[in-house]
Amino acid sequence: IKNPNSKKVVKEKVVILGCGWSSYAFLMKLNTDKYDVTLVSPRNHFLFTPLLSSTCVGTLEFRSIAEPIRNSKDDFEYIQAQCLGIDPQKKTLECQGSLHGEKLFQISYDKLIVGIGARNNTFGIKGVEEHAYFLKELHQARSIRKRIIDIFEMASLPDCTEEERQRLLSIVIVGGGPTGVEVCSEISDAFLEDLSKWYPQAPINQVRITLLEASNRILNAFDEKLVKKAMINFKYSGVDIRTHTAVKEVQKDQVILQDGSVIKFGLLIWSTGIGPQKVLDNWKFMEKDKHGRIKVDKQLRVQGHQDIFAIGDCAGVDSENLPATAQVAQQEGHYLAHQFNLRAENTNHVPFEFHSSGLLAYIGKRSSLLQTKYFDLSGFIAFLSWRSAYLTRLGSLRAKIQVPFDWFRTLVFGRDITNF
Ligand code: NAD
Repeated sequence: IKNPNSKKVVKEKVVILGCGWSSYAFLMKLNTDKYDVTLVSPRNHFLFTPLLSSTCVGTLEFRSIAEPIRNSKDDFEYIQAQCLGIDPQKKTLECQGSLHGEKLFQISYDKLIVGIGARNNTFGIKGVEEHAYFLKELHQARSIRKRIIDIFEMASLPDCTEEERQRLLSIVIVGGGPTGVEVCSEISDAFLEDLSKWYPQAPINQVRITLLEASNRILNAFDEKLVKKAMINFKYSGVDIRTHTAVKEVQKDQVILQDGSVIKFGLLIWSTGIGPQKVLDNWKFMEKDKHGRIKVDKQLRVQGHQDIFAIGDCAGVDSENLPATAQVAQQEGHYLAHQFNLRAENTNHVPFEFHSSGLLAYIGKRSSLLQTKYFDLSGFIAFLSWRSAYLTRLGSLRAKIQVPFDWFRTLVFGRDITNF
C-alpha cells in the first residue's frame, strides 16, 4: 500500500491469533519484509505436541519441547493476550492481556489469521472438568507428572491402608485415540522401568493402568492389523484396555461407567478428543461447520470475509473432513504463508491440498505403529522411525540437541521423580 503523504511504502498489517502448529508454521514461513506482523497469543511458546505425553512421566523434560515465540524469528511483534472480539467492519480486535486479566485494548489489522486451535472435549459429562486431568498444554503435563509421583508417595506411606493403596495406584485413561494410547504407554513404561524399582511398597500386582474406550476399538485411524499389535503389546505390559466402555460420570475418587459399574482411581486422564474454542460463540459473523469449526474455502479464507483466514484445528476446509492433526495444521500454515509471500491473496490462487505423510503412534515398550500409503510397520523399527521422524521435525537446533539428550539421560539414569 502506498501512503499518499509519503514516499515510504507502508506494509500491510498481518495479525496472527494463536501460537500452535498452524500459526507458528505461518509465522515462520511468512516473509516479514513484505508485512508488518503481530502475533497475539495467551501462550508465549510453541509446543511440540507429538512428544507431550513423554513429558508426563519425565522421559522428556518440559522445556525440551517448547520454543519461546519471541526469539523464534526477527521482525515481528508478540503480544501475550487473548482475542475476545473481532469487528470485521472496522478491522479491529478486542484483546485482553492473559496474565492478570488486564484491561481490554484494541489492535487493528489489514489481514487476520485465526489459528486458535481447539479445546478438550468433555461432552458435558458430569464431574470431568472438576476431577479429571487433561493433556493439551505443558502445565497439564506438569500436573499429571506431579500427581503420578504424589500417588506413588502416598501409597508408600506406612499408614496407607490396603484399600486406599489400591485406589491410589489405579490410573484410568479415558479415550483410546492417539493421545490416550500414548500417555498410557508412557505411564506404563515409567512404571515398568523405574517406579516399580523405586517404590517397593507399590508392587507390580497392585498398580493398575486401565484405558476406557467407548467404541469397539482403540486408535480408529489405524489399520486393524496394527491395532491388534498394539493390543498384544498392552497385554504384555499389563495394561487393561476396555473397549465398548463409555464413561457416564466422574466423581472425586471414582468413575461411573454406562453400565453402572465403578472404577476407583488415584489419577484419571481425560482424552476423548477436541472441540471448538468457546470464544468462537462470540464471533457470530463467522459461519461454522457441523463440528463447530470456522468454515473456510479452499484458499482458507473465512466465508464472506476477504481479509480473514482461519487455519489449523479451528478451521473446517470446504467440504473436506480433514483430521484435526498437527500435520494438517502445519501444512495449512505453510500454504497460506506461501500464498501471502507470493502476494497472490487477492487472486484466484491454487487451492489448499493436504498430503498425508502417514500416521505414527507410540505404544510402549520401545514399540510404535507406523502407517503410510505404501507400507505399515510396528515394533522396534517403527519405534526408531517414530523417534527419528519427530527428531527431524523439531523446530530449533537447541531442541534437536536437548530431546536426544533427555532420551539418553532417561535410558542411563531413569526418570526424575522429584514432585515439586
Ligand atoms: P480422538 O478424537 O482421536 O480420540 C478420542 C477417543 O475417545 C475416541 O476413540 C472416542 O471413541 C473415545 N471416547 C469419546 N467419549 C468417550 C467416553 N465418554 N468414554 C470413553 N471413551 C470415549 O482424540 P485424541 O486422541 O485426543 O486426539 C485428538 C486429535 O489429535 C486427533 O485428530 C488425533 O489424530 C490427533 N493426535 C494425533 C497423534 C499422533 O498422530 N500420534 C497424537 C495425539 C493426537
